[in-house]
Amino acid sequence: MKRTVVDNEIVIVGGGICGLATALALHRKRIKSLVLEKSEELRATGAAIIVQANGWHALDQLGVGSILRQTAIQIHGGKFISLSEDESKEAPFGINGEFRCLKRTDLIKAIANCLPHETIRTGCQVLSIELDPVTKYPQLLLSNGSILQAKVVIGCDGVNSMVSNMVSLHPTKLLRFSTCVARGFTKYQNDHQFPSEFVMISRGQVQLGRIPITDKLVYWFVTRLSTSQDSIISKDPVLIRRSLLESIEDFPVHAMDMIHNCKLSSLHLTDLKYRPPWDLLLNRFNKGTTVVAGDAMHATGPFMAQGGSTSIEDAIVLARCLAEKMDNTTDAIAERNDIEEAFDKYAKERRMRIFWLSLNTFLVGKRLDTKSCIVRSIVFAMVFVLFRDPDGHSRYNCGTL
Ligand SMILES: Cc1cc2nc3c(=O)[nH]c(=O)nc-3n(C[C@H](O)[C@H](O)[C@H](O)COP(=O)(O)OP(=O)(O)OC[C@H]3O[C@@H](n4cnc5c(N)ncnc54)[C@H](O)[C@@H]3O)c2cc1C
Repeated sequence: MKRTVVDNEIVIVGGGICGLATALALHRKRIKSLVLEKSEELRATGAAIIVQANGWHALDQLGVGSILRQTAIQIHGGKFISLSEDESKEAPFGINGEFRCLKRTDLIKAIANCLPHETIRTGCQVLSIELDPVTKYPQLLLSNGSILQAKVVIGCDGVNSMVSNMVSLHPTKLLRFSTCVARGFTKYQNDHQFPSEFVMISRGQVQLGRIPITDKLVYWFVTRLSTSQDSIISKDPVLIRRSLLESIEDFPVHAMDMIHNCKLSSLHLTDLKYRPPWDLLLNRFNKGTTVVAGDAMHATGPFMAQGGSTSIEDAIVLARCLAEKMDNTTDAIAERNDIEEAFDKYAKERRMRIFWLSLNTFLVGKRLDTKSCIVRSIVFAMVFVLFRDPDGHSRYNCGTL
């Protein structure tokens, strides 16, 4: 077996939004890191991502906000349209601060382009992590058979995180919503003429969301109850489109046209896994000098459109805490203690933020999941009591880097 000792002290597992944002936040603090991504190239699954005020603050801290603002128009408001047999009802809603929808490729590229060339290693899967019995630092076993040693490992390996299972007190038990989501783009030859607003159209348990990205490009998503056929449908974009058109067959013509004319390569149908919110109260986020961030720490459903933004917040807070503690001490034990103290501070700062957000997302998801009017009313009342300010989640400020 090959054995390679890296001089990079910090290894980040996963090159998604969180891994790249963490590498950039550390780079801005003059701390070098290495990102290991299992895919052959950086992935941007899921067409687009909504970024709300808290996310824009975090992107500004990373220094990529102004580049990304040029790629997406600002959304100023929204409306719910509820369709029923006899009438349709419209209810406008306000938006707190800055709200835009970014192409995921734009976000990933903007962050990756700011990183030193040698930071990202693609086609590199981490199979397992163990503690070196002598140094007590983590050792990563890679799919090519080599072993990397690192002083710090940051697990940004997404919802099915291997690192999270390693640091948690108990192995992660992911749960599933009964709802699934399809997402895609529609590109219009001429301007689409939709106003710069977020429109949600619903009938029963089917919801369609529409947000313009530019004058010619629109991001949309459809949520509906999962079916036993979804594992087959999700493999073929033509089948996804057909199933969506069936789900929204009594929706307005412009909505049907939008799905009909979508870019097939942008289509994804995803089942929704989440970490129960109460686990976040009790679970450990680090073990020694290995820590988790992003979906690896707090996978939620997409119902608040905050998973990506909170991952960038994690990156800012983690880099800030590490930079405060990573000085040039030569004493190995003192150094390890410093890193662990940095992670304790990070966990303390993030725990309640991600708990409340996960709980809010969980309740909103359960409201969509259930057919029972009684359960829906109870969940509605809980959301009303616990989350009186519906925009509270986007007013959060993760501070400066
Ligand atoms: C339907 C849907 C809609 C959403 N909409 C929004 C939205 O509008 N706004 C928003 O803010 N959030 C949204 N989210 C949430 C958001 O997509 C996630 O929170 C975000 O992508 C998490 O980023 P991450 O880097 O933690 O994980 P990921 O994006 O999953 O990245 C993990 C990376 O790690 C790599 N990896 C995994 N295991 C290994 C390994 N062993 N070795 C090496 N590499 C590995 C993977 O290949 C992947 O690239 C949505 C999610 C869904 C499902």
